[in-house]
Amino acid sequence: MPELPEVETVRRGLVPSMEGACFARVKVNRPDLRWPFPENMAERLTGARVITLRRRSKYILVDLDRGETLLIHLGMSGRMTVSGDPLGQFVHDHPAQAKHDHVVFDMDNGARITFNDPRRFGAMDLLDTASAEAHPLLAGLGPEPLGNAFDETYLLERLGNRRSPVKSALLDQRVVAGLGNIYVCEALFRAGISPTRKAGQIAAARIAALVPVIREVLSDAIDAGGSSLRDFRQADGELGYFQHSFDVYGREGAPCHRAGCRGHVRRIIQSGRSSFYCPQCQR
Ligand code: ZN
Repeated sequence: MPELPEVETVRRGLVPSMEGACFARVKVNRPDLRWPFPENMAERLTGARVITLRRRSKYILVDLDRGETLLIHLGMSGRMTVSGDPLGQFVHDHPAQAKHDHVVFDMDNGARITFNDPRRFGAMDLLDTASAEAHPLLAGLGPEPLGNAFDETYLLERLGNRRSPVKSALLDQRVVAGLGNIYVCEALFRAGISPTRKAGQIAAARIAALVPVIREVLSDAIDAGGSSLRDFRQADGELGYFQHSFDVYGREGAPCHRAGCRGHVRRIIQSGRSSFYCPQCQR
């Protein structure tokens, strides 16, 4: 499942083909994904020019010159592929239409963007740009973990009186937007905090230390995505899924990566999700 860094990688990969370009032709091959597509989506997009591509949490927001914003959510298995880009970013020929190619954007610069989603948990919607933040998917989201509003004072205030485990508290999208299971596990490992510890019982200095660690974990993954973008330009034009090296996530039973620690990574289930951590060095 794509998390924030993967979505950011997709956004960055789409920018050269979409920003400044117009939708020349839009093909919608089915009525819905997770939810129905907005009414007349193809007609409303055709001819519109893309002003900018933004990201909020795990959503890509494509601002159009008509006062509307196209929201794209990759869901569990959504993939974006770019082909035919005349700017030389993605020089691949357009592939034959594949099963699960649900939406195809042909831009007026020759680029084609294909949205493929076998499990159909993805979504697209069209919203008024001016009131985009009030959209049900976006309203109530906490601050961006890489933004200025997410700082030590804020996190202390939000976690200070919580009785829930810190793992669940950080997964709460009202506390911080876009953090998912993988990067919460990785951040707690780097911070040396056990995922089972109650948020409100962690010393203030340790909570404060989580802020730069969360930013660092996400930035490292976005950097890894950046290098994968360069590879994709030479591969098949598919954006966003790249090889990660994790310290704890998916490493159950493997030796801890922390220098001098003899622990092994343990997996437990918290609120129905796997938590990976080192019981030796995460307290
Ligand atoms: Zn350890």
